[in-house]
Amino acid sequence: MLRVAVVGSGPSGVYTAQSLVQQSVVPGVRVDVLDRLPCPYGLVRYGVAPDHEKIKSLQQNLRVVLEDERVGFVGNVEVGARGLTPARLLELYHAVVYCVGAARDRRLGVPGEDLAGSHSATEFVSWYSAHPDAVGHGFPLDGRSAVVIGVGNVAVDVTRILARGADELRATDVPQGALTALAASRVREVHMVGRRGPGQAKFTTKELRELGGLEGARVEVEPADLALDPSFADPAALPAVNRRNLEVVRGWATGAGDAVAQEAARRIRLRFFLRPVELLGEDGRVAAVRFERTEPDGAGGVRGTGRYEEIEAQLVLRAVGYKGIALSGLPFDEARGVVPNEAGRVLRDGVPSAGEYVAGWIKRGPTGVIGTNRPCAKETVTSLLADAAELSARPVTADPVGALRDLGHEPVAWPGWLSIERAESALGVSLGRGRVKIPDWAGLRAAAREGP
Ligand code: NAP
Repeated sequence: MLRVAVVGSGPSGVYTAQSLVQQSVVPGVRVDVLDRLPCPYGLVRYGVAPDHEKIKSLQQNLRVVLEDERVGFVGNVEVGARGLTPARLLELYHAVVYCVGAARDRRLGVPGEDLAGSHSATEFVSWYSAHPDAVGHGFPLDGRSAVVIGVGNVAVDVTRILARGADELRATDVPQGALTALAASRVREVHMVGRRGPGQAKFTTKELRELGGLEGARVEVEPADLALDPSFADPAALPAVNRRNLEVVRGWATGAGDAVAQEAARRIRLRFFLRPVELLGEDGRVAAVRFERTEPDGAGGVRGTGRYEEIEAQLVLRAVGYKGIALSGLPFDEARGVVPNEAGRVLRDGVPSAGEYVAGWIKRGPTGVIGTNRPCAKETVTSLLADAAELSARPVTADPVGALRDLGHEPVAWPGWLSIERAESALGVSLGRGRVKIPDWAGLRAAAREGP
């Protein structure tokens, strides 16, 4: 038998588990999927926006894998805590696949970044997704203007949540505290700002278009921003997604895409060719963002023009990408924010480390959609299976979960998660809503203990 630990129960972890048990090269593979949280599904539960029900429903597919009899869910176990080092894990399992994602937000590196009211988009996403690490977070939603820096899909998500009426979120599993705060929000303008042009923006067209369909919100684009983008002169040279993005943005600039009433309660202002140079404060709180106007440098990038513009903001969300976090005891490429690897085999000093693998964002960086993790996991599993004969020859602990308990961990198994699900349904009933997420550690752990 080959015993494998997968660390992380997000899409990359679950697809790795699936690839490991749904193959016929090496029979008798058993997988434990560990997670720091008592809940599975990683960013599908704690990153995908609550109003994206269709993507959220992927949880059903991931669930089937975690309910497979050859797969065990071991929640509430943090690798790196209570003596559970990568070296110790290798004594418990023949192989370990790290699928821990990229949990850190990238920094802007500009003055004022840490003023009150300036947050990473990750913090905001965690808050409205009920991540238990974000339970105490609050966001200044009492001001009229918010600036979102970056034009990727995370920027679109947080812009949409700020611009969407809270009533529409009532039917989702958004936690009650966030729903109440969003319902009381006085934010009327959301500026989503890119340092390059719409032809280079990272968002995908479906997500972009959704902004134009929000009830009570209107999207505005400055024609002067678009005039700077050389992509309009030769759109055929762009990848299809960027070409489609240009069409949507141009429609908004001319007013043709503005199907929603002019009297919209909220405005989404899409801006381009502005790079943030400073967050300006008033009494220690952010009050505006100072941008330098940029222009194309002819090579896909931009250069500064020495002209500046300020946009009022009582809330700033920095949505400029994620970065991996080093795990003590594992090698880490700080510049790329990934664990160095070759087709998923962890490299220590350039040499594959027996029994250690990576998949997902910690392997390739924070790019791609959820489905990108499937081939990524498959590649890693192919490497692992090729090494299986050597790996299974090494003796390991008979009862790894018991060994985790001996270290002081209190694992939450699948029935504990089902118990959390029931508690969340009951919470929803008590609030007159559908299922509502439990937002705090104590609540999740108590629910996990309740049992059937
Ligand atoms: P992203 O796609 O890499 O976008 C990051 C954005 O930040 C880019 O516009 C980038 O501009 C900008 N940026 C970076 N550094 C900056 C700086 N110093 N100043 C100003 N702007 C800066 O990252 P993401 O939005 O975090 O998304 C991560 C991944 O998750 C992506 O693959 C995304 O598609 C995926 N995702 C998908 C969905 C969905 O499918 N609905 C939802 C959320 C996330 P430059 O291009 O100029 O660098």
